[in-house]
Amino acid sequence: MDFKKNFVCVEPEYVKDFRCDGRKCNAKCCRGWQVDIDRRTHEVYKSISDREMRTKILDNLYWNEPTNTYRMNLNQTSCPMLGDDLLCSIQKTYGAGYLSNTCAEFPRRTFVIDDFVERSLSMTCPVAAELALLNPEPMKLVRTKLNTTRAACFFYRSNQEMPARKFLYQLQSISFDVLQDHRLTLNQRLKALAIVMSELDSLIHNGREQQLELVSRVYHSADYFQSLTARVKSIPFVLPHYMTTMFGLLETLNAKAIVYYSPTQRVFVNYPIQAFQTDETITTWQQMATVYDRNIEAYREHVLTRFGHVVENYLVHSFFAGIYPCHAPMTLLNNYLLFLTLWKFFEFGLISMATVMGEKFSLDDLLEFIERFANRLDHASLFHQMTLDFITKELSEPIEFLSGLVDDGV
Ligand code: SF4
Repeated sequence: MDFKKNFVCVEPEYVKDFRCDGRKCNAKCCRGWQVDIDRRTHEVYKSISDREMRTKILDNLYWNEPTNTYRMNLNQTSCPMLGDDLLCSIQKTYGAGYLSNTCAEFPRRTFVIDDFVERSLSMTCPVAAELALLNPEPMKLVRTKLNTTRAACFFYRSNQEMPARKFLYQLQSISFDVLQDHRLTLNQRLKALAIVMSELDSLIHNGREQQLELVSRVYHSADYFQSLTARVKSIPFVLPHYMTTMFGLLETLNAKAIVYYSPTQRVFVNYPIQAFQTDETITTWQQMATVYDRNIEAYREHVLTRFGHVVENYLVHSFFAGIYPCHAPMTLLNNYLLFLTLWKFFEFGLISMATVMGEKFSLDDLLEFIERFANRLDHASLFHQMTLDFITKELSEPIEFLSGLVDDGV
């Protein structure tokens, strides 16, 4: 039976323009993944009148006890229903209505927060990544209506554990204003948003949520912006703290093989080791500062100057897609510091790649690294939790922690 549901949906503008095309990506998502077949779709497949097609589909399904669903047998290299033209033969013959929930939804990622949904696209799909990230215009959020029978495969988050989720749209709109404010450098925006988050926390704590609508207007006033900029500039950068956090996180996550690495892809973990010369004799922080400055210069020259809009779009996309600043039941500021740690860790990988690869660093390298990082964020369930565990004791001193994450320049 189909359950039709209607939601108010907030999504970046690009989502509506997405069209799957397996010919552009070599049918990437039909290879090497697990595809669960929901019960409704299984019933539909059993009722297909063409005996040959029905048998081909059903013979390739097996019962998977842990998920309590049928699963498509992808033991070969790709989905058995993928045609030579790299298109899905089920969709080609019967239309998108015959796709399982998983196949129909991917690469869309939809979070339900009570009766409201937020939807984005997974950056593991190359077609989605190009659509979302290559646009030189700032990313915009739009409100739409979503009528669907596919809500069974959405991710559900209630707002009970985190009441601020009721105001998620307003909080994200304010955050977008700050993250895309070109009057400030990228790192100044990151510091500014931490200050704004702590102010938003106190509004919510004092029951003044109705003033959230005003915050965006206040942010754009000249007086507020001037005082915010002064506060941003007063937060120093502490290199030893930064290096300790980045390498500590790399070691922690790499020990679980959940970061920068996959047996079939490039071993990204080698780049930071090479770029920061950890295998050589750097014995003082002064020597490390020289190495760091050189690496930042390479990042500026080979990444930001050429692909700054792609990096900024991925920053804004990751914030929205991770449902920040309401990802986990804790304060907005602590949510933001978790996001910031993950962002800085991503950037640390890029800084390292730019240093090692120099002018050979290309847009394809950037998109490949984003795809890898997005894969870990979306599919390695421990990634967020281990990062949060790693920084938990630092969260009691947010300004010190911020100083250890965000440089003065860039
Ligand atoms: S959803 Fe994306 S990755 Fe999958 S086949 Fe379509 S374009 Fe390719």
